[in-house]
Amino acid sequence: MNNIHRFIQKRFYLRTRHAHPFGIVLDIDGVLFKGRNMLPRVKEAFSLITDKKGNFVVPTVFLTNGTNSTEKLKAAQLSEQLGFKIPADHVLMSHSPLRMFTDLHDKQSTGQRVRILRDFTYSQKVFRVGFKKVTTIDHLVKWFPHLDCTDFSRKIVDPKETEAARKRFRPIEAIVMLGEPLKWETSLQLMLDCVLTYGKMDTMIFPLVAGGRRPDHIPIVACNVDLVWMADIASQLPRIGHGVFIHILDTLYEKLTGQHLQFRATLGKPTEVSYLHAAHRIQRQARAMKLDDVKYLYVIGDNPMSDVLGARLFDRYLRHGGVGRFDHLDLEAFDVNDGEKPRVRTRNVVERCISILVETGVHQEHVHMNGVVKPISALIDNLSKGEQLLLNQPNFVEYDLHAAIRTILRRECYR
Ligand SMILES: [Mg+2]
Repeated sequence: MNNIHRFIQKRFYLRTRHAHPFGIVLDIDGVLFKGRNMLPRVKEAFSLITDKKGNFVVPTVFLTNGTNSTEKLKAAQLSEQLGFKIPADHVLMSHSPLRMFTDLHDKQSTGQRVRILRDFTYSQKVFRVGFKKVTTIDHLVKWFPHLDCTDFSRKIVDPKETEAARKRFRPIEAIVMLGEPLKWETSLQLMLDCVLTYGKMDTMIFPLVAGGRRPDHIPIVACNVDLVWMADIASQLPRIGHGVFIHILDTLYEKLTGQHLQFRATLGKPTEVSYLHAAHRIQRQARAMKLDDVKYLYVIGDNPMSDVLGARLFDRYLRHGGVGRFDHLDLEAFDVNDGEKPRVRTRNVVERCISILVETGVHQEHVHMNGVVKPISALIDNLSKGEQLLLNQPNFVEYDLHAAIRTILRRECYR
């Protein structure tokens, strides 16, 4: 028996027999908060998995598709809201796995400016995900004002100034779609230009290869494919998110070229890469807590299309051994900036990923949103609609976070 089970035994007066510790992956929006408001019974829920000093007794990470913050800032914000310390390495954003794409880190890349939290904008320095040469959409607007035709005020610039600034431009070699942009029309136009011109921006070339197809465009990595998200407790309607922006860009590209965009990777829930990253962090925590390897991961979320689908895809990956799926990624880079050696094994240790859907967020509204919340099949490799429907079904449905954690603890006690 390990520490977790001793804790559960004391806390719930239950006898535990299970030999292996388990980990919990928590969504944030719709599970802990709606907008800025904390949902009822959240603090009580954490008292079930933390000791009196606020230290976790169960390895836990927060996995959010948000991109408008850093892990460190998000951890500080959570600590303030929850009233106990959440270390930065307990928080994973949808852009966190970008640090694994080391083959792209030296390329000249462009990324959107995202909704601003406090006063920072997108940059390699702020996000610390490895990219060394970053051009933002704001740079492109400044350097190519004639391309942004939707905002006439931006076109009134000194040509000399533009000419001088443009000398700093280097052709874009990769695109990182971080999160929904501030000005959708500007970002759509310039990202489309960037893909169509192979990163050269104002040189229109349409080279065709055999079969009339265009050669592959520059690599695109997209974070956060959520179509909708819950913005505020006052609103009953989910708001459109970055997934919608990605669909629009793909549709425009398809209308103009007859081909769909090819994503090098999509990150954030529901993609398995993000869950692999979460499992890795859970394993590290277990090691720091002197626990045995974690065999079972529980995912608690409010979105069947995101949290549940991702958990079930990851479970399928675990059960089928995951041979070759992530061979192209630099898994060693998980530990960049984390300083842990040797590397923690994840793939061969975690055995199952179990999903719990709570009814405090998006899911509740989905009942009335038929036709609005569409499948994201275009972004999930080789997944038919039938498979998606099957994989959207959670292992458990609970009213809220408190009920979900109680279910996990009871299940682990009687396993
Ligand atoms: Mg959510």
